[in-house]
Order: sequence, then C-alpha cells, then structure tokens
Amino acid sequence: MSDCLFCRIAAGEIPSKAAYSDDRIYAFHDIAPKAPTHILVIPRKHIPKLADAGPEDRETVGEIVARAAAIARDLKLDHYRLVANNGEGAGQTVFHLHFHLLGGRALGWPPG
Ligand code: 5GP
Ligand code: ZN
Repeated sequence: MSDCLFCRIAAGEIPSKAAYSDDRIYAFHDIAPKAPTHILVIPRKHIPKLADAGPEDRETVGEIVARAAAIARDLKLDHYRLVANNGEGAGQTVFHLHFHLLGGRALGWPPG
C-alpha cells in the first residue's frame, strides 16, 4: 500500500534504522523510543492490525514473534516486553501490524 507509512519504511522509501530484514519481515528502531531498546517488528505484507491476520498469515506472525525473541537474545536483553496494540483504544496509531520490542529498563505492569 503506497500510502501506508510502514509499507513505505519496509520498502526503503522512508529511511529507518534496520535491526533485521528478510523477504517476509522487517525490524527497525522506533523513531520515538519508549525504552532504551524499542524496536518495531513488522510483516512486509500490509496487514492493518493483528485482528486482521488470517489463517494464511499464521506462519508470518509466528516468525515475527520468534524473530523478536532472537533480536532480544542478540541484544542480550535479560528482560523485555513484546506487545502489539490492536485498535485505537489500545493505542494503535499506525495501521500496519507491528510488534513493539521494549527493553533496557524496568517495565511496569499492568500497562496503561
Ligand atoms: P502504535 O502506537 O501504532 O502501536 O505504534 C506506532 C509506533 O510507530 C510508535 O511507537 C511511533 O513512535 C512509531 N513511529 C511512527 N512513525 C514512525 C516513523 O516514521 N519511523 C519510525 N522508525 N517509527 C515511527
Ligand atoms: Zn502497510
């Protein structure tokens, strides 16, 4: 989708600081980090939000979760949080599925 911010970031049309890249997944550093490590892991395919992921997307979503854990391992994060905001009421502002990988500080629970 040419008018989607994260599609354009994944395509390299808008610059970002990459953390991981393959033919299905792209990971990059959040422009306004909420923790010392704040990486967004996204599918290259345009899926607006987690609730829109269909049976055909299960493998990709699973790969995103496993990749986030691998990135955290590589960064030697001893604790971290992986979260997807689904819908405006949950804080989603960019409607291209993304998982936030947050770490490098104590993380309170429950989130706001
Ligand atoms: P959401 O609020 O939808 O769960 O998360 C969207 C995230 O995208 C926010 O943390 C925000 O800082 C980040 N973001 C928004 N625009 C850009 C951008 O142009 N580049 C990068 N790297 N991150 C962005
Ligand atoms: Zn998109």
